[in-house]
Amino acid sequence: MDKRILDIFYSRDRNVAEITMQAIYREYQDILEPKIVGMLELDKNCFSEERNQYDADLLLTKLRKNKNLFLWVVHDDIFSDDLNFVFGCAIPLKGAILSTFRLRSKDLIEKEAIHEIGHVLGLTHCKNECVMMFSNSLYEAILKPKNLCDSCREKLRKVYGYV
Ligand SMILES: [Zn+2]
Ligand SMILES: [Zn+2]
Repeated sequence: MDKRILDIFYSRDRNVAEITMQAIYREYQDILEPKIVGMLELDKNCFSEERNQYDADLLLTKLRKNKNLFLWVVHDDIFSDDLNFVFGCAIPLKGAILSTFRLRSKDLIEKEAIHEIGHVLGLTHCKNECVMMFSNSLYEAILKPKNLCDSCREKLRKVYGYV
């Protein structure tokens, strides 16, 4: 099966985009061909003065028409719906946004990038020891493993022929 291209955009820091690209390549190399496309600045219209955060769902609509799957790495804090903040937010089979604002280490950035791309590929949250475990605190994010569990891998294998 042909690999799908994953376009990576960043709002400020190309080095962080490189980190996510390498992590995504390591975990999903049989399915995805990640490449850095370039800088895409945050639209001020997606900023909530009241919350002092960007609206992740609104930002995602900016890339709605992107031909390839995508990941947009941003550095400002983001929220979604009634959640106080999110590390990332994904539209299955389209793309995701990832905020490094609360992710203080390379390890956490890699983990959350792998998590969001799991959603992009159609995975839902997982109850195993798995990178797809739900986490909405830094503590939970630190505790979860960096890789997919066997059951999530198997799901991807069925759909994409992942080995
Ligand atoms: Zn998730
Ligand atoms: Zn899993």
